[in-house]
Amino acid sequence: MNPLLIERLRAIVGDGGLVQGRDVQDRFPGYFMPAIAADAVVRPTSTEQVSQILKLCNAERQRVVVHGGMSGWVRATSTEPGDLVISLERMNCIESVDVVNRTAVVQAGVILETLQNQLLEKDLSFPLDLGGRGSCHLGGNAATNAGGMRVIRYGMMREQVLGIEAVLADGTVVSSLNRLIKNNTGYDLKQLFIGSEGTLGVITKLVLRLREQPKSCSTALVSTDSFEKIVQLLRHMDGALGGLLSAFELMDQRFYEVNTATGRHEAPLARQSAYYVVIEALGADQARDDELFEHALTQALEKLLVVDATIAHSERERQAIWAIREDLAPIVRDFAPLSAFDVSLSIGDMEQYLRDVRTKLLETCPGAQLAIIGHVGDNNLHIAIGAGGKREFVESAVYEPLRAIGGSVSAEHGIGLEKKPWLAVSRNPIERSLMLALKKLLDPNGILNPGKIFDIGSAG
Ligand code: ZN
Repeated sequence: MNPLLIERLRAIVGDGGLVQGRDVQDRFPGYFMPAIAADAVVRPTSTEQVSQILKLCNAERQRVVVHGGMSGWVRATSTEPGDLVISLERMNCIESVDVVNRTAVVQAGVILETLQNQLLEKDLSFPLDLGGRGSCHLGGNAATNAGGMRVIRYGMMREQVLGIEAVLADGTVVSSLNRLIKNNTGYDLKQLFIGSEGTLGVITKLVLRLREQPKSCSTALVSTDSFEKIVQLLRHMDGALGGLLSAFELMDQRFYEVNTATGRHEAPLARQSAYYVVIEALGADQARDDELFEHALTQALEKLLVVDATIAHSERERQAIWAIREDLAPIVRDFAPLSAFDVSLSIGDMEQYLRDVRTKLLETCPGAQLAIIGHVGDNNLHIAIGAGGKREFVESAVYEPLRAIGGSVSAEHGIGLEKKPWLAVSRNPIERSLMLALKKLLDPNGILNPGKIFDIGSAG
């Protein structure tokens, strides 16, 4: 980077806001990522500073990559030598919580779990929940349209955002801080930035929709012997619980075996079933809801939809069940080098799709290991594959079968660099050229997160 530009950035953010040299490489680069290659990191403390930084960078054609909590999975935050990183870590203020209107205004660098915890005191909740809750930023959740464990009940991040403040590539501040649930006044501009992975603007502030804090929580782990029964079980539980279902999380036998192997998590159910599902309901009255939950599970047993079931009777047991689903460390170790996928497809197509992937994978990579977890009720499967690093064959086995069935190469992780070559599986040429036109309109010099999602000049 031009040393003169560095000094002008220093003048905007101060000495404490500028990171250079060795200190850049010492920063956490994200999971499975090499050290940060960018020349410098600026850490603004206000929207006004972000605006000044971008105005300067746009005039100098300086490439900019935004960093949030660095818990992404698709290399959307990767940098090259010569890049500038804007980290929003110092913009971490929960500006206000409106109990009457049930909204919160937060800066983009607030950590998800910090907001969740702070709302407990006010008997409110922010329902987005995912494994990275302790480090991911709400701004990053919006930029990537994060999903997670409770989408089945509350929707993705897109559904939780009422208003947005974002800075365009030329420094223009777009203040669209709507606080209303219903506001049909023309184009919904905030949705342009949500899921744009830092390519259309820098999200600096959010108005979030809040919900009541649930008063009851019922959790079970069940086992089933076929995929078809999972589909029936989902419909049965959703119907029987009358709107309380908040999670329906699949694990296949291989994943369950890995995570309940000796010395790891205790296995509450025997290991010989084909599939396991964590089921959770959130409601208002613990005694009444437990009764409803148990009744629904008893019916599922009677209808032979599940082989076995265990209900959590304490917070400790609840956490033990969730730990089996959420702990990814054992699979990362056992399948190393792990290839992790995040695909979306109709639930009715899943069984055949998984058969196709397995067959195709074993043709090209004999001895490959495969395990599945997923948010089945949201059409979302996460596939873990250990195939000794034959990445291109593995990707083709997972993505190619999606073409014919209208599946998506990314359900919730985004495109970044990792899925860029596969965007055309899920997006047609007209869609891709419209995306490119929007990119050129909002960032004509192409300084924002260059090369992510698609290349300017050819949207694939
Ligand atoms: Zn997920």
